[in-house]
Amino acid sequence: MNLLTFDIEEWFLEKAYFGNKQSKYAEYDRLLEELLEHLSEHGHKGTFFCVGKLAEDFPQVVRKISNAGHEIGCHSNTHQWLNKMNYKQAMEDTHSAVDALQQCIGQKVKSYRAPAFSIGSDNKWAFEVLASNGITCDASVFPASRDFGGFPEFAKMEPTVVKYNGIEIHEFPIVTIKVIGKQIAYSGGGYFRFSPYFFIEKEMKKASYSMTYFHLGDLCPVIEGVMSKEDYERYFDETGTTKARYLRYFKTNLGVKGNKRKLFKLIERMGFCNIMEAELQTDWGEAPVISL
Ligand SMILES: [Zn+2]
Repeated sequence: MNLLTFDIEEWFLEKAYFGNKQSKYAEYDRLLEELLEHLSEHGHKGTFFCVGKLAEDFPQVVRKISNAGHEIGCHSNTHQWLNKMNYKQAMEDTHSAVDALQQCIGQKVKSYRAPAFSIGSDNKWAFEVLASNGITCDASVFPASRDFGGFPEFAKMEPTVVKYNGIEIHEFPIVTIKVIGKQIAYSGGGYFRFSPYFFIEKEMKKASYSMTYFHLGDLCPVIEGVMSKEDYERYFDETGTTKARYLRYFKTNLGVKGNKRKLFKLIERMGFCNIMEAELQTDWGEAPVISL
């Protein structure tokens, strides 16, 4: 079972942080169109986790994805990391986002992914926040250490029932593998951009479960130059040293060129399903249970 998921935030980021350029919106519109066509040609339905603000400011983008038959999931309201919010802020953020997305597409939103996989051992209460807002499936767990989050103690890399304070969520975690002593993901984001194609396909074919996560920003640059100190600090909420700003620029842009061809090849060659389909296919009675 290979899950196909996308995190959609680019239009919102452009408007809020990167200059509100019409040329960037047009570029994202074109890329999305091409991606949806390619998915339809190969009969795949994905889950697109969209930020709530996208439903408010760019509703046509969310509707276009939904009208093509894909599942719309929630990717927070303003792309702030959940581990930088307290319980009350996370409640408000999730409520606003789910509400805006549901109003936009006229359907229930049941799947969630936190920006930067920001659910970990310090904010397990986030699962309660999600369940209170009608979310039944989550894909926010990155069961290894990473920048901005990670949940190494989760230690499960298959569909898992999460129990916390009387609620239950069906978790679809990222899969990581050990390479030179370090746990890394291979099926999304920067890891997908940096890994050779044959390696990714080989790993996915070997696994009985895999979780992909892509962004339009993996296919074209989102940040076209090194961010100013001010913008960096507003966006990342940390000190924008020269080193940090250059590092972020390289991490965001390395491997973007040629990555579309790689992703489209994967779409052509592999079978995929989205979260709602995976939810139905999974025998939850047999799935591992984690009580947090
Ligand atoms: Zn995101």
